[in-house]
Amino acid sequence: MEKIKMSTPLVEMDGDEMTRVLWQWIKEILIEPFVELKTEYYDLGLKNRDLTNDGVTAESALATKKYGVAVKCATITPNAQRVEEYSLKAMYKSPNGTIRAMLDGTVFRAPILVDGITPYIPTWKKPIVIARHAYGDIYKAVDGKTAQGKAELVYTDKDGNQVRQTVHDFSGGGVIMAMHNTDKSIESFARACFNYALDMKMPLWFSTKDTISKVYDGNFKEIFNRIYQNEYKEKFEKAGIEYMYTLIDDVVARVVRSEGGMVWACKNYDGDVMSDMVATAYGSLAMMTSVLVSPDGVYEYEAAHGTVTRHYYKYVKGEETSTNPVATIFAWTGALKKRGELDGNNALVDFAIRLENATLDTIKGGEMTGDLVSLFKKEGVTPIKLNSKDFLKAIAKRI
Ligand code: NAP
Ligand code: MG
Repeated sequence: MEKIKMSTPLVEMDGDEMTRVLWQWIKEILIEPFVELKTEYYDLGLKNRDLTNDGVTAESALATKKYGVAVKCATITPNAQRVEEYSLKAMYKSPNGTIRAMLDGTVFRAPILVDGITPYIPTWKKPIVIARHAYGDIYKAVDGKTAQGKAELVYTDKDGNQVRQTVHDFSGGGVIMAMHNTDKSIESFARACFNYALDMKMPLWFSTKDTISKVYDGNFKEIFNRIYQNEYKEKFEKAGIEYMYTLIDDVVARVVRSEGGMVWACKNYDGDVMSDMVATAYGSLAMMTSVLVSPDGVYEYEAAHGTVTRHYYKYVKGEETSTNPVATIFAWTGALKKRGELDGNNALVDFAIRLENATLDTIKGGEMTGDLVSLFKKEGVTPIKLNSKDFLKAIAKRI
């Protein structure tokens, strides 16, 4: 069989530990036998980040801007223990944080649904995608404690004019906090959400608490509405999908009653909390994909989980592991599909879809990694636990 050719390279960001091992196997067993894989390779493994003083992370983000599509392996975000373990020169920042800041992107997390693994909310038949605004609010707030005294919010404009508001007149101890966001960041977030929903042909729901937070959350609501009316309304109507704005409490109730199938845009804190709720309700973090979308249409695909350290330490000791590669496979298929769409390469798009179906069919047929065995329930099928490599080989047979 002739291998599928690629005209533009994917930006490939390698990573750490167990996911680095899976990365290699996925390429060898599932992709390279079928595709003449063309990538521009960046090694974001911790050793190479240290060697390059983390320069490689920024280089990979620039390459992503240039080519438009990247696929990323999970990476270690170093803490004090990792600095010692790897004798690092510095405690480098999270690569995802660096890349996100350079691409000015929004992160979309989507569960992978398989027949046989029922979500804890059994009415959820389709994926719920959480779009989390990744800038500002309480994540960039200043806060402090008070005793008796007056707390004020003071804004000074560029000409020195001041607006002063009393936050509270304290008669004793208490706490205060001031937070912010910028129109620019909210606009980017809005466009990323509208683009993603159009791309996936899924309705978009956005929620805040603007009845209480009239100016702050009201600003989010207005910006989304203005951008929708001016830039996306026609496109949404043409695609047959809706944009709905509602209150956060209303949307929570609607999501639980729904059968899924929508993109749910969340402010930073709401997205932090709700994405863990949604991920857990769908069954497993190992079945959750993540894509960073920039407002100018650049895509970076990855798995939502980390480097699975506990499994890696077993692997290093020569033990077999049954680490789930599905989210990482779907990061590859997401990237190959997007590359194929941008290049008009139908063979590549078809291959990515075939690989996704082969992966789902393998699980449906009862062959899976250990984490899924206890979740799997299907009449007439007894689930078998495979090690990672045998699971990949079982998928390859079905492509
Ligand atoms: P993790 O790698 O997601 O793993 C946490 C636990 O979840 C694992 O020990 C395992 O449970 C289970 N798990 C996660 N993915 C799995 C998979 N594919 N197959 C089977 N089980 C899976 O999180 P962590 O241990 O907190 O973090 C490890 C490292 O990853 C850290 O250095 C962190 O900085 C990094 N990290 C990177 C990213 C990223 O690059 N996007 C995201 C998160 C964390 P059992 O042990 O019970 O089997
Ligand atoms: Mg969280």
